[in-house]
Parts: sequence; structure tokens; C-alpha cells
Amino acid sequence: MLNLIIFGPPGSGKGTQAEKLEKKFNLVHISTGDIFRSEIAEGSELGIRASAFMAKGELVPDEVTIGMLRKKMMAHKEAEGFIFDGFPRTDPQAEALESLLGMLDQQIDALLMLDVPEDEIVKRIVLRSAESGRADDRDETIIRNRFQVYQTQTEPIYAYYDAKGKAHKVPGMGSIDDIFQKLCDVISSIHV
Ligand code: AMP
Repeated sequence: MLNLIIFGPPGSGKGTQAEKLEKKFNLVHISTGDIFRSEIAEGSELGIRASAFMAKGELVPDEVTIGMLRKKMMAHKEAEGFIFDGFPRTDPQAEALESLLGMLDQQIDALLMLDVPEDEIVKRIVLRSAESGRADDRDETIIRNRFQVYQTQTEPIYAYYDAKGKAHKVPGMGSIDDIFQKLCDVISSIHV
């Protein structure tokens, strides 16, 4: 069993690295942002609720997000492990994750934080907006708001896992493969 959180500001490369980790370690990849986007594309009630918050760069309320995550995890009870991408983003989400994993007799092994400065993030997101087609990637004010939300509501979660000795910081600058290698080095140091 290997349960990981890929962590870091928007545009730090979490999705890209999560896909590589998913393949290498045979994990179930849960990206709450991707799930919300596909719910929006389907026009579901959940998607409609989430889209108002996402469009402003705000967080979707905890009860909605946690309920969605619970459903997704319980559909994968057979998983050899999970990689959580974009979750948890608040303290209540981190606590909910602990208890959901506890129900499956599992726990988080590591939180891997990709460290990238704000200006680099804005540049990257604006660049990717052409291919991502994401409305929240197009407007610099929304991007900066997402970064602000990250700093105030999400970044403190690093300390929550650090207190458990499970938080690891990896520089998120450089090539995709170099960053991936650094993440794998951390995993080999904790996963025996
Ligand atoms: P992401 O794809 O992870 O950058 O997420 C895009 C947007 O989806 C965020 O700006 C939030 O509006 C929403 N979102 C994704 N994950 C969460 C979460 N764990 N809690 C609340 N909102 C979320």
C-alpha cells in the first residue's frame, strides 16, 4: 500500500507528476479538480454547484468536496494505493481524508510538495491556458486569487503532515523527468 498526496500551488505541476506516479506505483489517481471539470462538462447538479466557485478561483465548499471524494474512494476499495491531487485543500478535508483512509485500514504515507514561486506559476498557467481551455487559467486576477487561496487555506496543511513527519518538499523547477526522479527518491526513502 502506498498513499500519497501531491501538493503545491496551482500550476506547480501536480497533475503531470501525479500521472507519472500513478503509472509507476499502480495507484488510483484522484484529482478533485478533474472530477469537478468532468461534472461541469456533464452538466450535473454537482458540476453546476462547483462551477460558481471555480470560476472565481474560490474553493468549492468542504461538504460538497468531501462527499465527492468519499464516493470516489469507496468505489476503489481494492486499490493498491491512492494519489490525491488537489485534495486536501483545507483542514477539515485533511481530517476527513484521515478518517476515510482509516475506514479502509490505511493511512497517508507522504505528502510531496512541489515548491514553485508565484511569478513562475502565473507564467506557467497563462501558457497552459491555450491547451487546457480552462476558464480559471485565462485571467491573471483569478490566477492570483487561486494562489492567495492556496497560501491562506491550503498551505497550512503542510504543517499538519510535517508534524506527523510525513511532509516532503521538492523543488518544482526544472525538467518534468528531473522533478519526477526527485519525487521517486523521496518515495524510496520512506517506502520499504
Ligand atoms: P485544480 O484543478 O486542482 O487546480 O482545481 C481547480 C478548482 O477546482 C479549484 O480552484 C477549486 O475551485 C476547485 N477544487 C479542486 N479541488 C478542490 C478541493 N479539494 N477543495 C475545494 N475546491 C477544489
